[in-house]
Amino acid sequence: MPVPQPTLAGPDRLGGPRAPRHLADLDPGERRAAAEQLGQPGFRGDQLSRHYFARLTDDPDEMTDLPAADREPLAKALLPRLLTAERELSCDQGQTRKTLWRASGGAYVESVLMRYPDRVTMCVSSQAGCGMACPFCATGQAGLTRNLTAAEIVAQVVAGARALARDEVPGGPGRVSNVVFMGMGEPLANYSRVVAAVRRITDRVPDGLGISRRAVTVSTVGLVPAIGRLAGEGLPVRLAVSLHAPDDALRDQLVPVNRRWKVAEVLDAAWEYAAATGRRVSIEYALIRDINDQAWRADALADLLAGHLAHVNLIPLNPTPGSKWTASEPSVMREFEQRLARRSIPVTVRDTRGTEIDGACGQLAAGRAGAAQGG
Ligand code: SF4
Repeated sequence: MPVPQPTLAGPDRLGGPRAPRHLADLDPGERRAAAEQLGQPGFRGDQLSRHYFARLTDDPDEMTDLPAADREPLAKALLPRLLTAERELSCDQGQTRKTLWRASGGAYVESVLMRYPDRVTMCVSSQAGCGMACPFCATGQAGLTRNLTAAEIVAQVVAGARALARDEVPGGPGRVSNVVFMGMGEPLANYSRVVAAVRRITDRVPDGLGISRRAVTVSTVGLVPAIGRLAGEGLPVRLAVSLHAPDDALRDQLVPVNRRWKVAEVLDAAWEYAAATGRRVSIEYALIRDINDQAWRADALADLLAGHLAHVNLIPLNPTPGSKWTASEPSVMREFEQRLARRSIPVTVRDTRGTEIDGACGQLAAGRAGAAQGG
């Protein structure tokens, strides 16, 4: 099988205009400084934060605590509209909603809101496209368009929070409780913006959205230095490692970045992350028929994980139209799960919500040229 080359580093944006600066790109001190640069008192930065993060509005007409003449220019300068909803699809009686967003420069990304009885999870994109080139993922085939800014990531969560607060999602008014960075892109390849977005998402209201750090999951294919850096941020978010194979021979092909950082190095970094944060690491394993779903690979995975603070998420691969990669048979999946469970490895088969709207993991924006699928 020909192995595509991942793009580990590259220009911050690969064409198209840069997204405009937004309040959510800035920390509270920088917001005050930005207000002063606009000839306003610094506390206007705090007032705008309250509108955006607490009241979930960027509409100047609703900002009645600001002088009428200043509302429009302040909102224009610090709360520009970053994402425009192009298309929205829902299923599960409206409790799963996928939104296709158009960002600056014609980049497309998607987010998915999933409402469960006990929580609401937003799955967000961190990049438009992805440079990691995993061959079973259409996003990987389309390549990286550009990194999203912190504010563009936060805007996906704010949109979900707003829809819930306004009772637009069946089940009554609610709030976003969990955020997972599992949409398009490799989050740790856009490190500083993803970390800034996590801070905005988890900072207390009104500096941020006030979502618990423990309810945020950042996924990675295994960028080892960035995992180490994340461990030192003092942000005890959950780390999800997309492993997909226990052996380097196969992982070199399924996750091309494995040729740079091998399975053992990735897992060592994961265990160090678990030790630094006290958080159990999620090991993501997309079960792909006849590729990585053999019983011996389940046993090899159990050997790697035994005794470590880990939990395995088995994900039935969502087939993409025209792709040879497809989900394992249910009986094979069960066998794989049981082999791990017999070795006392915590394991669950992930809910594949949203499959019928191409909203499940690995299926984002499959119909949109230049944008597809997520990790
Ligand atoms: S699976 Fe994830 S990391 Fe791999 S190409 Fe797709 S979006 Fe990127």
